[in-house]
Order: sequence, then C-alpha cells, then structure tokens
Amino acid sequence: MKTVVMPAEDSHAIKTAARLINKGQVVAFPTETVYGLGANAFDADACMKIFAAKNRPADNPLIVHISNRDMLSSVADEIKPVAYRLMDAFWPGPLTLIMKKAEGIPEVVTAGLNTVAVRMPDHKDAIALIDASGVPIAAPSANSSGRPSPTSAMHVFEDMDTRIPLILDGGASYAGVESTILDISGDTPTLLRPGIIPPELLSKVTECEILIDKGIIAPIQDGSAPKAPGMKYTHYSPKANVVVCESENKFEVITNAASGLCGNVAVICLEERRELYEESGLFAYIRSAEDARGLCAILFDALRSADLLGVEHIFCEGISANGIGLAYMNRLLKAAGYQTI
Ligand code: AMP
Ligand code: MG
Repeated sequence: MKTVVMPAEDSHAIKTAARLINKGQVVAFPTETVYGLGANAFDADACMKIFAAKNRPADNPLIVHISNRDMLSSVADEIKPVAYRLMDAFWPGPLTLIMKKAEGIPEVVTAGLNTVAVRMPDHKDAIALIDASGVPIAAPSANSSGRPSPTSAMHVFEDMDTRIPLILDGGASYAGVESTILDISGDTPTLLRPGIIPPELLSKVTECEILIDKGIIAPIQDGSAPKAPGMKYTHYSPKANVVVCESENKFEVITNAASGLCGNVAVICLEERRELYEESGLFAYIRSAEDARGLCAILFDALRSADLLGVEHIFCEGISANGIGLAYMNRLLKAAGYQTI
C-alpha cells in the first residue's frame, strides 16, 4: 500500500482522511500529545486494522477521541459528577478518562474490558477530522508497538510506510508525551499513566487524593497484574542502549561512564549542563531542554534521531519525579528498561 503524507491545512486533506475513516480505513493524524493511528471507533473491523498496522497485542486497548461533549454518551455510560468536573477543567486537552463503556463500542477497542478510555484532543486538525468523519475515532499512538511514540509526521512515516494509506501532517506535537490517564470508573480516581497534566492538578479539581499506580516508575513485578493493560509491554525502545543517571553529580558520573565506551554516544540533559557536555568532546549527539516540560517535548524525537544517527549508547539525566517530572521519568525509565547509574 502506498502511504501518502498530506499537510493537514490542505483544503482536501481533512476531507480525504474523513472519507477513508468512513470507508473503514486507518489514518494517522496529529494531536497535541503524540500522533494517533485512528479508525472509526464503532467499526470493529476497522479498529482491528490498527492492531495489525502497529503489531499491537490484542489485550492493549485503544483511546477513543471525541470532538464534542454530545459524542460522549455514545462512548461512555454512567458519566459521574467527577467526570464533568475534570472535563470542564481539562478538555479539550491531554487528559484521558477511564469510564464504564457504552454498548456501541466494540470489544476490540476496549480489549474486552467493560471500561473505555476517552478524551477530547486540543488540536484543531484532530478535532476537524473527528467532526468531518462524524464518528468518535479510536486511536493509540501511531508508532510500531514498542517503538518511541511519534511526535511528527516523519516519525509516523518511519514506522507506518506501506501499512496505512494516509498520514495527516500537522507539525510537531507540543506535549511530546502521551495523555495523562485517570481511571474514574472505581471509587477512588487512579492515575494509570502520567502526562503533562500532573496528579497535583487532578487532585485539586477532583478535591480528593489521586491514587498513583506503583507500575508508573517501577517495573511490574512478576505475578502482579498491571492496572492499565499497556503497562506490561516494553515501551519506547530505541535501538541504542539507554541509561538513566540518577546520581547527584550527573556530569561526572555520565562522562566517566561514557569515556570507557566505543561507538557513538549521546546525552539528553538539562540545558544548564549542555556546555559542559559539549566541551568534554565525548558525545556525538546532545539534546537538552530547560525543564521537565521541555524534556517531555524532545524525548521521543531525541530517541528516534539518535537511532537514525547510529548512536549506540544514550545517557539521560534523571530529574525529580514530581509534577510533569513524573511523566518524563516514567517514559525515560521504560526506554532504559530501568537501567540506572
Ligand atoms: P496509547 O495511546 O498507544 O498509549 O494506548 C492507549 C493506552 O490507554 C494504553 O496504554 C492502554 O492500556 C490505555 N487504556 C485504554 N483503555 C483502557 C481501559 N479501559 N482501562 C485502562 N487503560 C486503558
Ligand atoms: Mg502507545
């Protein structure tokens, strides 16, 4: 299959994409978090094509994307007062809510669960596509399973060329990490995946403490069932070996470890130490950002770029796992397979 990339602002692009969605095809589209691989959420056969294109295990459910509140009742049942508070505060935006599923959502979307993940993206092209299709769009991230999530149309093309008919190009995703996932189907709201909406803010809006699943910054131990189906799979793995530095004197520890290695070595660090790494002459590729938010925005692009440049080892500075830092450390530790120095 030939994969076409169309700028989303082309007048025909959204219409073409919507027509494909309505014909049961899969289309990649931009969102503010990462790019999504979308199909009509009511069409089980179309959604099955997402799993095939990504090589995604069937027990890892999808997120359903809606463009307005009226669509919600066709996706979720029993919408609680806490859901309205969260939607008022954060939608459209990078917050996915887990609620009881509506009957019309096929089992393939929820991997057989009686709950569904739903969100309203804060991206004009994503909203335009859902509106033009007239149906909710089920979409996981548009990467091959296990690879870093795509934050640009080019990243999607790297993984999906020949597998899907169309990629809508809407520029770089500004958040750079996937949505915060909050399970509100039970009695206590539980954070299943951190994102750029941090638990502290969720707590403020829900006026209750948010449970934080232990699997978020620690490996799932054998025998314990992961709360979110996606948690048990390897994630975000570039070809390079990734190591996270959690020591205090990061520059010394990283340069010491890097100086003994052959091959191309890269570092992902805070801006304040960039010059030091540059002057050391040990690194073929350096990416940096000011803070947790900035690091989230560059991480997946940095991992993919390092692969394209033939980097064999990537050292990443760890940061404090508070606020948005929790999302960064969750993705980083998974990419590193929890290897730390
Ligand atoms: P992705 O957008 O590729 O990150 O995939 C969607 C994520 O949402 C996966 O990690 C799923 O585990 C999670 N998810 C989707 N539906 C549910 C659900 N009903 N309960 C818990 N997690 C879910
Ligand atoms: Mg994903």
